[in-house]
This record gives sequence, C-alpha cells and structure tokens, in this order.
Amino acid sequence: MANKNFNAFEMAQTQFDKVAEILNLDTPTRELLRNPLREYNFSIPVRMDDGKVKVFRGFRIQHNDARGPGKGGIRFHPQETVDTVRALSMWMTWKCAVVDIPLGGSKGGVICDPHNLSMREQEGICRGFIRQISKDVGPLRDVPAPDVMTNAQHMLWMLDEYETIHGAKYPGLITGKPVGMGGSLGRTEATGYGVIFTLREALKELNIRPEQTTASVQGFGNVAQYAIELYNQLGGKVICISCWDQEDQTSYSFRKKDGIKMRELLAITDRFGGVNKEKAKELGYDVLPGDAWIEQDVDILLPCALENQVTEETAKKIKPSVKVIAEGANGPTTPEADKIIQEKNIFLIPDFLANAGGVTCSYFEQVQSNMNYFWEKDEVLGKLDVKMTSAFLAVSELARKNKLYMRDAAYVISINRVAQACRERGWV
Ligand code: NAD
Repeated sequence: MANKNFNAFEMAQTQFDKVAEILNLDTPTRELLRNPLREYNFSIPVRMDDGKVKVFRGFRIQHNDARGPGKGGIRFHPQETVDTVRALSMWMTWKCAVVDIPLGGSKGGVICDPHNLSMREQEGICRGFIRQISKDVGPLRDVPAPDVMTNAQHMLWMLDEYETIHGAKYPGLITGKPVGMGGSLGRTEATGYGVIFTLREALKELNIRPEQTTASVQGFGNVAQYAIELYNQLGGKVICISCWDQEDQTSYSFRKKDGIKMRELLAITDRFGGVNKEKAKELGYDVLPGDAWIEQDVDILLPCALENQVTEETAKKIKPSVKVIAEGANGPTTPEADKIIQEKNIFLIPDFLANAGGVTCSYFEQVQSNMNYFWEKDEVLGKLDVKMTSAFLAVSELARKNKLYMRDAAYVISINRVAQACRERGWV
C-alpha cells in the first residue's frame, strides 16, 4: 500500500534483476519476466445507499501464466496502488513456481475503504469488478482469491456474478469460498501452518530442537495466529508479538518473557488482529513500542504483518541470538536489510516460500471444486506439509550446494521454472 518512500514493484524488480544476472538470462526473457504480461484497469460504477452513483477504480494484473492459469487475491484498500499490485502479482508467479503448482501469478485491487461501505455497496463493487473482467478471468485463465479486506462473502458474490454472466456453474473460478460452498477445510490455518512447516525443516537442518527455541512475531492476524499455534505445538515459546492499534494509529509490541498465552491474548484481540493494550497490561504483558518485536533476544523472528518492515534501520537491531527468520508476510524485508541478514549469518526462509501454504491450499480448493469432491481437513493439511517440505528441501539444497542466500536460491528455482515454461511454449 502507499508509502511515499517505498515502491514494492521496484523492490520486486530489483530482486528479479539480481537473480536474472545469476542465471545469465537472455534479454527477451528478462524483459518478459520483469513486467506483467497483461494489466486491466477499469472503472466500477456503483449505486450507493444514498441513491447516487460512485465510480471506483479497479485493476487486475496478470504477471505470468506460462505454467498455468493466473492465481492471486483481490484487495480492497483506500491507498491501493497499481505498483503494489504489480509487485504482488510477480511474487505470486514465483510463489506458485517454488511450490511447483501448475499456476501463474496475478493480483487485483479496488481503491475503496470497506470500513465506510455498507454490505450492499461492497456487493455492488464485487459484482461490478467481475462484470468488467469476466472475459479475462476464469478457472482456466485467472483464478482470484480473498486478500486484504476481502473475505469469503466477497468471493461468493463474485462467483455468483460470473456464473450469472456465463450461464453455468464454475466453482473453480475463485478460491477462498466458504466451507460448504466449495471452500476447502484447512485454508484458514494453511498460511501460518505452512510457515512453521518450513521453519521446522530449517531447524532440523541447523540441528536445533524447536522445544529449545523462543520466537518473536510481528503481527497477530491470520498468518501469525496459526503460525504461533503450530510453533507452540512443536514446543516453541513465543515471547513477543506486535500489532497495529487502530485508535492510536501506531503499532505496539506485547511481551511476556515466560511466553505469551494464545488463549488470553485472543480473548482481547479484535477481528483485525489488534490487541487491547490496557487489557494486555492487566494480564501482565509489557507494552513496548511497535519495533520492539525485532530487538528481542530470541532464536527466531517471524515477520507476519506487512511489507517493508525489516529495513536497513530495523535489521541493525536484530540480536546475535537470532538464527532463523521465516517471512510470513509478503515483502517484509528490503534488499538493504537482506545484506545485513546475510552478514549476520541468519538463516532466512523467504516470503514466497515460507507463506506459500495459502496459495497451495487454494490450489487444493480449486482441485476439489473442479472434481466436486472434498477432502477431510487432515488430508488437506497432510498434503500441504508434503508440498511445503519438499519445496523447502529443494531450495535449501540448492542454497547449500551453490553457497547462495536462501532468497536467491528460491528465486533461482522459481525463475528457472517460469523461464523454461516460456521457452518451451516458444514465447522467447
Ligand atoms: P491480517 O489482516 O489478518 O493481520 C495483519 C496483522 O498485522 C494484524 O495483527 C495487524 O494488527 C498487524 N499489523 C498491521 N500493521 C502493523 C504494523 N505496522 N506493525 C505491527 N503489526 C501490524 O493479515 P494476514 O492475513 O495475517 O496477512 C499478514 C501478511 O501475510 C500480509 O503481508 C499478507 O499479504 C501475507 N500473506 C497472507 C496470506 C493469508 O493466507 N492470509 C497468505 C500469504 C501472505
């Protein structure tokens, strides 16, 4: 989202260029992959509750679909920018490729603030979005999903509009549908659990037992909560989390040195993942500044909030005790901070590998929807573990063999796979 000094797309391209050099990619392949294949930009007129028509801007960006239909969420946000959506669509391409699922990368957005819209108005935006793009998305073209400030209800309105336009049922159009309406069990847990499946493998590689580790987490939303749940089950102890305070318009960190307790914290957390600081104080938590999560004496850092958080400035504060960083959020680390993390010899599990559990489960949802046969939760999570573990092992093996930084190794695998698909199709 908008941040005057930060451009996510420039960052995504910088990361790509570095790996294009390592891979010695030819010029046409670089040109093809450093920009989206297609971009749709459109207006969505909606009749508001007061009877007046308001026009919203929407976009859908399809970065690459050489390996299969595009896949990626649709965000609703007042400060959404085309460049953020471009970056996210590119990261989706690498994410699907690194876990080796037959999908490409897309992303969409609408500039709007759901806080100030009635449900009927939000429905109007969802249906309007699909009317503008109905020929250019589809189970075999581009498959949307929920993202920032969109949920299963928004997906169902979009699906209903698409099916009305096309005159048949297409449950594989969209993922993130409610369970019972084509949604997959396990989707809610998938991203957070996926982060911990990869963390578990990293700890094995470093000969560290999870039950002897502590962690600090940025964020306390969907990804963070399920990551903490599974990490706790492995015996790990989280001593600090941080989140956004809507009232104060700033972030705070909440620390309990003998370990945070999920149940008590969840009881004082709102639906946006914000913890009530007065009640946290009463429960014995130290309430610290927002950045404090990164400067804790822990073994593991889990940035699970948003992009551009581990920067040149904050990375310097990381304590020598930190051995692993697993990126639950998309794009939390800047290229300058990457250099510091490498110098500190910290084992990094890059975002598009660590948080690929969500899209992998969305792919499972699409498969289940297409065959109209749904798996039990254990089956979904078991298949997820297999996919995440084998993706992690492929990346860490390449990193070890070629002495590459984990982010670069993950990029090498993904970009190679996508470049090869483009070549085999005869595009370059
Ligand atoms: P969420 O909205 O459920 O939670 C976000 C959390 O971050 C909240 O606790 C919020 O208070 C906190 N936060 C916001 N600004 C903050 C700040 N400045 N400092 C500290 N905390 C802050 O979102 P989520 O679904 O958990 O997603 C988190 C990240 O993971 C995002 O980058 C998202 O793109 C990425 N991601 C999510 C999924 C998924 O399936 N949910 C999949 C892949 C990647």
